Amino acid sequence: MRVILLGPPGAGKGTQAKLISEKFNIPHISTGDIFRSNIKGKTPLGIKAKSYIDKGQLVPDEVTIGIVEDRLQKDDCKNGFLLDGFPRTVAQAEALDNIQEKSGKKIDVSLLITVPEQFILERMTGRRVCPSCGGSYHVKFNPPKVEGKCDICGAELIQRKDDTEDTVKKRLTVYNDQTSPLISYYKNNGILSEVDGTDAIDKVFGSISNILGAQE
Ligand code: ADP
Ligand code: ADP
Ligand code: ZN
Repeated sequence: MRVILLGPPGAGKGTQAKLISEKFNIPHISTGDIFRSNIKGKTPLGIKAKSYIDKGQLVPDEVTIGIVEDRLQKDDCKNGFLLDGFPRTVAQAEALDNIQEKSGKKIDVSLLITVPEQFILERMTGRRVCPSCGGSYHVKFNPPKVEGKCDICGAELIQRKDDTEDTVKKRLTVYNDQTSPLISYYKNNGILSEVDGTDAIDKVFGSISNILGAQE
């Protein structure tokens, strides 16, 4: 099964992606995680990406598309994958369709997690992430079992540099301008499904499981 997760920053894409990837046994591919691990390793890609990410801007398409194209060629993507945070522009969506076409495949579902803007700031400023395994927590809505420590790997949780109020506001503008046109793109392709992301995490996951379960 080939799945895309769509939705504004803070919709819960990363949180749901971890659960989906486990249940449906497909690799979770997060472009944000790929960029962050390159930033940590100070690679040329990381240095380039950082200058955009810290400002809340998108990393240019010509950089991002190549990374995803390489990743999708890996063996673990043969039977499906879950894309989290890609595509984020119409050009990226078109490139993804071309990549799929070349290999005679297609995306099965584009899953939109809807969360109105008034929820987002609190979600983002309370987010704490694991720099080691990418786990995502919230100080109020999804606290770790031991304060400040990742449940999965025990690493010290951090606050992302781009999760400050100012940068989140910029990222929301970028989402509305550049990413939200993908909703009609996938509606027109006939593969858009939608879930209400304001429910509790397990309830959202229940809705998603029903949609994806019907695909199998
Ligand atoms: P995204 O990947 O879409 O930016 P995340 O999965 O990282 O979003 O979630 C953003 C923040 O909101 C995190 O702190 C996460 O713990 C929290 N969160 C995720 N889903 C929910 C939910 N259904 N209700 C409340 N908080 C949530
Ligand atoms: P969130 O889901 O919380 O908005 P991500 O971890 O998906 O955050 O992305 C963090 C940042 O990485 C984005 O704000 C953007 O700068 C960059 N990024 C991630 N994915 C892409 C993409 N597909 N195209 C361009 N930039 C991206
Ligand atoms: Zn961890």
